[in-house]
Amino acid sequence: MIYADNAATTKMSRTAIDAMLPYMEEIWGNPSSLYEAGQQAAQALYEARERIAACLHASPAEIYFTSGGSEADNQAILSAARNGARKGKKHIISSAFEHHAVLHTLEKLKKEGFAVELLDVHENGMIYPQQVADAIREDTCLVTIMYANNEIGSVMPIAKIGKICREKGVPFHTDAVQAAGHLPIDVQAQNIDLLSLSAHKFHGPKGIGALYAKKGILLTSLIEGGAQERGRRAGTENVPAIMGMAAALEEACAHMEANTERLLALRARLIAGLSQIPHSTLNGDPKDRLPGNVNFCFEGIEGESLLLLLDDLGICASSGSACTSGSLDPSHVLLSIGRPHEIAHGSLRLSLCADNTEAEVEQILQAVPRVVTQLRSMSPLWKDKVNGKKAFIL
Ligand SMILES: *Cc1c(COP(=O)(O)O)cnc(C)c1O
Repeated sequence: MIYADNAATTKMSRTAIDAMLPYMEEIWGNPSSLYEAGQQAAQALYEARERIAACLHASPAEIYFTSGGSEADNQAILSAARNGARKGKKHIISSAFEHHAVLHTLEKLKKEGFAVELLDVHENGMIYPQQVADAIREDTCLVTIMYANNEIGSVMPIAKIGKICREKGVPFHTDAVQAAGHLPIDVQAQNIDLLSLSAHKFHGPKGIGALYAKKGILLTSLIEGGAQERGRRAGTENVPAIMGMAAALEEACAHMEANTERLLALRARLIAGLSQIPHSTLNGDPKDRLPGNVNFCFEGIEGESLLLLLDDLGICASSGSACTSGSLDPSHVLLSIGRPHEIAHGSLRLSLCADNTEAEVEQILQAVPRVVTQLRSMSPLWKDKVNGKKAFIL
């Protein structure tokens, strides 16, 4: 099997698994318990918080453990909205191509009377800092712009957006789920107030993530109960998963440069090869993109059929995101960069990790053009285009 869907989830690293086992087999006490077995778990938790904070240039007291990226996004946005509403500020700036964890939370706030402004995404998958500067108003209580897009891989100018927000005194949240462990993050230098990450996107376990909230930002609890996470997130901590997350993030950050170099070479080969397919286009910025992300639209095919045929050849890829597949709507991300419905339906996302090999990339480059040709040969619409009865879009 060739796994090229690392933006959906990653395989756990040996390091992450090994870091978890002792906290299932030996040190399994409740960190809130006062006896030694509990305090050992509490100590581990404290150290994990320190190690995760260090990877982000944050301080340990600014890290809150959550059940993953979605919960962190929800809590960050709802907290900023509640804090704003208390001061009569109910305007939120975001973008049209955020993850649904962000967009659906914003929808909820809209129903509560918040004014939500979604910035247009440029054709190359970018949000420019000037767009944010122009949109900020007196009553803006939050800017939330993702660090890197999970479908088309474009990487936003986060430091520049952060600087604008800080100068105007507006809290800035970034969904960094695709960036953490893959791109350098420095919450201080980049003026980030709130940041979400998720362990299973950097070879850690699923169901665990973290929210960084700069000192002084009041968080609203989504889950009420005990006093864990300084009263902001109730529930006994998932110590093994947290230990796995800390180990995975440290490992990813330690190898970031080498992994990036490797991935850039694989990515370049894939993009060059797939660009040879007629009537195709690369989605997202060619340069400012995640090192492992390749996303193409092929005219005249259905992404779903492409995935099924690739699956038959042992290749795991995706079309749009794992969260939207299963619905017939085209990806909101591809629509946001101006791809027409028909084109947006024919997309392929390949997301690599450092375990992928050159041989795998060559196999993908053998398979995709064959499958695209096969699907086109069965399509009546494609025949019309070839015969000149309908115009090509790409
Ligand atoms: C995967 C992902 C999420 C959701 O994270 P979970 O841990 O699966 O809840 C949020 N935002 C982005 C950009 C993602 O890629």
